[in-house]
Amino acid sequence: MPLTSRALLVAGLVLLVALGPVAVNDGDTTDRAGATVQAPGTAAVPTPGVLERLLDASRGPVPRRAPRPHRTPRGSSGPCASGLVVLTFDDGPDRGVTPGLVRTLTDLRVPATFFMVGRRVAAAPEVARQVRDGGFTIANHSFDHTLMTGQSNTAIRATLRRTDRQLRGAGITPSRLMRPPYGGMDRRVERAIAAAGLVPVLWDVDPRDWERRSTSNIAQGVLSRLRPGRRNIVLQHDGVRNSPRSVAAVPRIVREARRRGYCFGDLDSTGTPYLPTPQVTATAAPTREGKRVTLELRLNAPTNRRSSVRVRTVEGTATPRLDYAPRDVRVTFPRGRTRARVRTPARHDQLDERTERFTFALTGPRGLTVGSPEVTARILDTDPAPTVRLRGSRTTAEPGATSASGTLTVRLARPSGRQVAVRLLGRRGPDGSVVRRTVRIRPGEREGLLTVSLPLKPGGETVRASFRIVRASHARPRGGRGVVVVDPVPASAEPVG
Ligand SMILES: [Zn+2]
Repeated sequence: MPLTSRALLVAGLVLLVALGPVAVNDGDTTDRAGATVQAPGTAAVPTPGVLERLLDASRGPVPRRAPRPHRTPRGSSGPCASGLVVLTFDDGPDRGVTPGLVRTLTDLRVPATFFMVGRRVAAAPEVARQVRDGGFTIANHSFDHTLMTGQSNTAIRATLRRTDRQLRGAGITPSRLMRPPYGGMDRRVERAIAAAGLVPVLWDVDPRDWERRSTSNIAQGVLSRLRPGRRNIVLQHDGVRNSPRSVAAVPRIVREARRRGYCFGDLDSTGTPYLPTPQVTATAAPTREGKRVTLELRLNAPTNRRSSVRVRTVEGTATPRLDYAPRDVRVTFPRGRTRARVRTPARHDQLDERTERFTFALTGPRGLTVGSPEVTARILDTDPAPTVRLRGSRTTAEPGATSASGTLTVRLARPSGRQVAVRLLGRRGPDGSVVRRTVRIRPGEREGLLTVSLPLKPGGETVRASFRIVRASHARPRGGRGVVVVDPVPASAEPVG
């Protein structure tokens, strides 16, 4: 952890001894409503706010450890060419400031880490949860913002544990990161923090937003301190008196830094800035036949490099080419974009059928992770069920036969994509017996046939059976009856004898 910061802390203490006690203004320390500042033991021990200011003041001229180089090579053009910026916000949560900040960061798609004071979490747990729900990192900033260099190891452990319990009690899983109040840390404090299982994170860019500075002054204070290719962890506050002005500077900072080729990153579990890999998810709304199926792809963060994913259609109950045009494309997200679309026509097949499905498969991501590898597309049928009617027949009995059969045709106005079942009720002469039958028509076919057997009378009379449709599934019955008629053998054809 930063040797430089330790050196600065020592330098600040030495300087204070030389200067003697200094009056505290409205800095970070005195603004904090719920936080107690531990009373300094002697005049030589700095009041925390003063120390912080001294640290900040001495930051510029003191030669600093060479910042960790960022992965992105310098001098390359394009997104992230200048490296990463990480935003951090201390001393919240605050009901008046934090929710608006969460909205701003969400709109800008900028990650951030919130170093929260346990006492503040206790006062506004729902605000802490809003930060969590925004997907931001939440970390420990002690329970009551006491300078740790003045605390015993036991007290340091206690304040960190108490904050951790407070966060977890609010339903938050804090990261392993922590920031000591005022950045105050020596080797002993650092060891005590490590013993508590936490990783201290300080900052590189301090616009001193807790002073009475204007929004534009704070924005300028951040932007002028960004260094290409270096680590740029920015310190701002969402829990001090001047915080409304400080968080109001965020949109300007983000816009201008992006314009200068910086990307906004997050802190990993060691406190190192990294650029989160955006995740792509996709959805497809149900589509009617004849329209286009649209797969909406969305990134949860803008991409800063060329990123893409392969999208192809996979057959389901819907048939490629018949029901939809198959696709196999690589979808590219240009820099800064978060949305893309793949469209394919849902063909109108004139068939009455069930809702049919196929799948969009998302594979082979480059510069992305895939959040939804398979998305089901549904094609809703809009075709009405076809009408169905009956057609009878008239035949002549075979000579000498005691029975004859005729055919009843069940006919659809057009083929259906579904199996159609038609229930029939018939009355058969000459005895008037009732006949119940169901005729099924297979998908894609137009007709079903029913063979009706009729007993013939010795007297040579015409016999008939009259049918009507009782019920039809996936077809609309048109009125009318179907009559099967069998005529007697014509007199001329009767055998002689
Ligand atoms: Zn603080």
